[in-house]
Amino acid sequence: MECWKSSSELKSYVINSLNQLNIKPSQQKGQNFLVNSNIINFQVAQANISSKDVILEIGGGLGNLTRCIVNKAKKMYVIEADRTLANFLDDTYGSTSNFEVITGDAVKVDFPTFTKCISNLPYQISSPITFKLLRHKFDLAILMYQKEFAQRFFAEPGSRDYSRLSVMINLKAKCKYLKTIKPSSFLPPPKIQSSLVAIKKKKKNEKLVEDETGFSQFVTLLFSHKKKIVRSVLSSTLKRKVKQSKIPTNIALEPDKYNERRIFTLSIEELIYLYNNLKMKIGEDLWSDIISRSAK
Ligand code: SAM
Repeated sequence: MECWKSSSELKSYVINSLNQLNIKPSQQKGQNFLVNSNIINFQVAQANISSKDVILEIGGGLGNLTRCIVNKAKKMYVIEADRTLANFLDDTYGSTSNFEVITGDAVKVDFPTFTKCISNLPYQISSPITFKLLRHKFDLAILMYQKEFAQRFFAEPGSRDYSRLSVMINLKAKCKYLKTIKPSSFLPPPKIQSSLVAIKKKKKNEKLVEDETGFSQFVTLLFSHKKKIVRSVLSSTLKRKVKQSKIPTNIALEPDKYNERRIFTLSIEELIYLYNNLKMKIGEDLWSDIISRSAK
């Protein structure tokens, strides 16, 4: 199956398919279909798909991106929540032996094993999907996000956009900003600009912290009070979580170069120092008990 020759061919395909299915794109479901063939070609080229790759697409829609991938990869999975669109994808590509539709909410269904994820995400699930992707092993993701959301990947410590997401994505991956995409590239056009981003998952030997689960719980705990001073969050957490005063609250909070800082000003390296230092002072078992209960 050939990919799109022009944007007008792609746009006609989208309009005709919507008419055939008698559906109106739902804003609630983030149904803004990409109708710019140059962007689709660019996105697929960035993924550098080989015949060994297993591709995951989240939100297949009418298959406008699917069509440009399915014949290049060893296997392709598409997750689509809208049953009508999922059936349409199955009818259109289901006869291709390497293709599988997973009907359901991508936040809830189990992801299959994959090497690359290429998706024009429904923006309302950007955050849970990004955190979910980061818990999986993969090589590369080429993803379309709302621009404001994507900017958080590149935010500097101390800036307004710096968040738990900024820390976690840069802990686990290397991100590259690829392109800003205008609303007119979609049908219907969304009210906001979009961004294409490449996310390369770090390999084991590139890991910044040994205990990623514990560190992630620590970051969740701190960033739920990101404007506060480190000492105040740690002190109330330690006091609340451990009743006996044998706990090393004072040791943990003794003057330290980072305890007086506001949480959102700490870089990943500083957060890792703080985490490892507290773990050492408090003791591994008690520390993991405290943060696993605090981050819930
Ligand atoms: N892949 C198409 C494209 O590139 O034009 C469609 C992308 S459109 C931005 C997002 C798609 O995600 C829609 O088809 C929508 O039905 C689907 N969707 C919305 N919420 C979803 C969810 N929670 N899980 C899976 N798919 C979802």
